Amino acid sequence: MTLIDGKATAATIKAEIKEEVEKIVQAGGKRPHLAAILVGHDGGSETYVRNKVLACEACGFESTLIRFEDDITEQTLLECIEQLNNNADIDGFIVQLPLPRHINEQRIIEAIDYRKDVDGFHPLNVGRMAIGLPCFISATPLGILTLLRRYDIPTSGKKCVILGRSNIVGKPMAQLMMQKQYGDATVTVCHSRSENLREECLKADIIIAAIGKPGFVTADMVKEGATIVDVGTTRVPDASRKSGFRLCGDVQFDEVAPKCAYITPVPGGVGPMTICMLMLNTLSAAKKEFYK
Ligand code: NAP
Repeated sequence: MTLIDGKATAATIKAEIKEEVEKIVQAGGKRPHLAAILVGHDGGSETYVRNKVLACEACGFESTLIRFEDDITEQTLLECIEQLNNNADIDGFIVQLPLPRHINEQRIIEAIDYRKDVDGFHPLNVGRMAIGLPCFISATPLGILTLLRRYDIPTSGKKCVILGRSNIVGKPMAQLMMQKQYGDATVTVCHSRSENLREECLKADIIIAAIGKPGFVTADMVKEGATIVDVGTTRVPDASRKSGFRLCGDVQFDEVAPKCAYITPVPGGVGPMTICMLMLNTLSAAKKEFYK
């Protein structure tokens, strides 16, 4: 069994990004600049945004954090997005989700200029991804694909089962694994209504679990020699930790790992790759790789 080390892979890629950025700057170009909008004080969101700002530093990017209290109006948030859309110094920006209930998330996502949508959530980027055109691909699926490639894990013609059909993980992951130029796999997507989910998983060469149910994937669902990618990150109370919680994946790691050819741990698997791919998308935005 090989452990897929997302932390080390992300560190390597961030070093590669930094090297490229320094070359751009030495040649007289500008440092990529990522802005993040954070609304409210959700613990998870605070951590994610802090880590994104730290990743910017590691990659040699400029970063700007814009904070609002959770009683901000949708209109004020839309005005802030408009300013970022028109600010030539900002190459890309994200609005950290989830947003307070009184704000329409989809309206916010669609207000972002698709050329600066480094999260890849705008329908234009989602649509272009679905038909295989150059675009910003959302960070978690892109990170998983990158891990599979960097570990030379064969995907072409393999059977891939994806657990979960969310807009940010399951659906784009299925699109990417299916497409010829990416995964080129035979893809099955399972969700909370799927029948015979265990039997589907047992046939899989690759299982990508993104449901948010700690320990859902057990050894009796996994074929010998399969590759397991665990996207789940649920905070489970743990009094022995300073933070008061620990992160739990969707896979029963201890019993599943011995059956696998490859497996990602939680933490240290998909998570660090997600932030790293946001950096890669920001570099692409700065280089105007997809859109002029
Ligand atoms: P989500 O929007 O809550 O979607 C969960 C999906 O799982 C839904 O499609 C749901 O089915 C399905 N599901 C729920 N219970 C199920 C069950 N018992 N059997 C089969 N399918 C079931 O979740 P998400 O945003 O995709 O996130 C999933 C997990 O990944 C969470 O733990 C999240 O924290 C984590 N995550 C991690 C990263 C990272 O960077 N590591 C990034 C994003 C998300 P229905 O559609 O039928 O409801």
